[in-house]
Amino acid sequence: MGKPTGFLEYQRQGNPAQAPLERIRHFHEFHPPLDWEERRRQGARCMACGVPFCQSGAVLGGMASGCPLHNLVPEWNDLLFRNHPEHAAARLLKTNSFPEFTGRVCPALCEAACTCGLHGEPVTVKENELAIIEAAWAAGLMAPRPPRVRTGKRVAVVGSGPSGLACADWLNRRGHTVTVLERADEPGGLLMYGIPNMKLEKGIVRRRLEKMAAEGIVFRTGVDVGRDRDGEALRREYDAVVLCCGASQPRDLTVPGREAAGVWFAVDFLTQATRALLEGGPAEKHYPTARDKQVVVVGGGDTGNDCVGTCIRQGCAGVVQLEMLPKPPEVRGSHNPWPEWPRVCKTDYGQEEAMAVFGQDPRRWQTTVTALRADSGGALAAVETVELDEAMKPVPGTERTIPCQLLLIAAGFLGAQSYVPEAFGLELTPRCRVKTLEDGYQTSLPGVFAAGDMRRGQSLVAWAIREGREAARQVEAWLLGCGG
Ligand SMILES: Cc1cc2nc3c(=O)[nH]c(=O)nc-3n(C[C@H](O)[C@H](O)[C@H](O)COP(=O)(O)OP(=O)(O)OC[C@H]3O[C@@H](n4cnc5c(N)ncnc54)[C@H](O)[C@@H]3O)c2cc1C
Ligand code: SF4
Repeated sequence: MGKPTGFLEYQRQGNPAQAPLERIRHFHEFHPPLDWEERRRQGARCMACGVPFCQSGAVLGGMASGCPLHNLVPEWNDLLFRNHPEHAAARLLKTNSFPEFTGRVCPALCEAACTCGLHGEPVTVKENELAIIEAAWAAGLMAPRPPRVRTGKRVAVVGSGPSGLACADWLNRRGHTVTVLERADEPGGLLMYGIPNMKLEKGIVRRRLEKMAAEGIVFRTGVDVGRDRDGEALRREYDAVVLCCGASQPRDLTVPGREAAGVWFAVDFLTQATRALLEGGPAEKHYPTARDKQVVVVGGGDTGNDCVGTCIRQGCAGVVQLEMLPKPPEVRGSHNPWPEWPRVCKTDYGQEEAMAVFGQDPRRWQTTVTALRADSGGALAAVETVELDEAMKPVPGTERTIPCQLLLIAAGFLGAQSYVPEAFGLELTPRCRVKTLEDGYQTSLPGVFAAGDMRRGQSLVAWAIREGREAARQVEAWLLGCGG
């Protein structure tokens, strides 16, 4: 597979990125694709490893390594190199319901486990995946293909993030009749409202939703199950119910002054930013905006980075990102060998942009918030911080006051919102995840399943798709009383 000498002949070449000062002028994706011939050469770098760790999805050292979807990476890299784009797309779609999403937003667990990366640069797996699926869309290969036969079984999928969509898509292809119930005004979950447009343009999500609707899946938006719809009634109406409601309970800040105006949870803020964009009007008319404000983002992870990138595009006056943990090392430690996920300091797009605009890295490591200060009108005016030592104890004398009119809390998620499991009488684990039977997606209630972040805890799009697909198989076994 691949070109036997490809990894020796060709260097890794990724999609170029627009320069930070250029891309912050818009909210579009900013990685123009390589031309097809160069992309084929990148496919040729795949080495046909005897054991392709890239597709293993194994948990090593407590972290996932390799693709959770077990994507057939060496196979489709070979087909790309040999210029069989249709076959490459067919092999890709065999394991991944939505490569156009993972090809854009996945952190590429596959590349961290690529054997080429052991002594050199890994294969550009994620971008190869994106090129293959986009070529398929462009060639008209992704036209709707509704199932020819229907089984008469009716399934309700609650929640339309990647897990719900993957589950609905799999079941619909097998001929079951699927209705997706979504409380938001548009389906897509965090793909639509959460992940910013510059990482995943919303037209890409809508394109997939249109295909799924044309294949027979019914989407009902504005339906809040557990509030507008009773769990028991839903069970009576459908042969099976799959709960894919995400893990949207945010971790709050418990500091004096928390009630000040101008404090937002990150996902609420990012959702409003996307809504403003989709409506096409100036954000500040109806929606919160960072324009001309000093922003503090609490949380140094990926969601915090998305907030930084969004605030810069909205024209903030400055941005600081606080992280309680110490700065990770620049290179892998000896205790963290390949093919484990590398625990190294990653500088993401938002941080690069902050450096380009404000001349410094926005991150302050080992720092936490101790209080918020409001002005006489109750609006946020400043944030009090202190540095932490290795034992997470405040270091005396490191207290600082940062002027701030907008504070975004991106401190992670505590798990699923409890009212949906309560509506079905389901148990939660101590970490606020819906409890399912061991190694499965079936809850304690017959015919009710759970998948995605709601079951697994806050994770990644690739994991959500895997959960949705696996849950769908178990739903089918339940519906038909066999297999699985
Ligand atoms: C800001 C942000 C950026 C991220 N960026 C990335 C990234 O770049 N790459 C990556 O791999 N992962 C990323 N993630 C994580 C990824 O988005 C999630 O792991 C994934 O979306 C989980 O999918 P899900 O289907 O389980 O849930 P979700 O995507 O959260 O979808 C759940 C859906 O259920 C709906 N719902 C909830 N309750 C109800 C109810 N009662 N009735 C009806 N509908 C309901 C919600 O409205 C939502 O649409 C990001 C997460 C965040 C917060
Ligand atoms: S889904 Fe993610 S981990 Fe899997 S092959 Fe694609 S980029 Fe790699």
